[in-house]
Amino acid sequence: LEKFGGPVSKEELGRASWTFLHTLAAQMAILSRIYPCKQCADHFKEVLRSHPVKAGSRSELAQWMCRVHNIVNRSLGKTQFPCERVDARWGALDCEEAACDLHGQLGTR
Ligand code: FAD
Repeated sequence: LEKFGGPVSKEELGRASWTFLHTLAAQMAILSRIYPCKQCADHFKEVLRSHPVKAGSRSELAQWMCRVHNIVNRSLGKTQFPCERVDARWGALDCEEAACDLHGQLGTR
């Protein structure tokens, strides 16, 4: 196991997560460059151009994300998501029985 790397530590998870979050926050357009579906990335690039990131607060960012997701939804003929329900949908993780809790699963980390 050692040869291939052991379980992810809190520090590794944190470092990787911060890198992703900070890069994304500083330059949301990066998503439109690395996204593996080219058609999606090209469209999203246009969406970002006409809807620059609004991240004055956590809720402003969540609302902005909801709006741009809805623009993609509209272009695909999908139902509009009611943005006032963003917190109910995304505000918490479903971590029952430590299913998504690194601490809980690994015990002593
Ligand atoms: P998804 O749209 O994947 O949504 C997942 C869940 O998010 C939903 O079940 C709902 O609970 C919640 N949700 C939905 N809308 C919102 C919202 N506005 N705010 C908050 N939560 C919401 N596919 C294409 O075919 N062409 C494209 O050009 C394209 N561009 C994309 C660009 C980006 C940046 C991304 C991330 C995806 C793109 N996709 C594109 C994929 C497409 O948007 C969907 O992810 C895919 O079609 C699966 O749709 P879904 O119905 O499962 O729900």
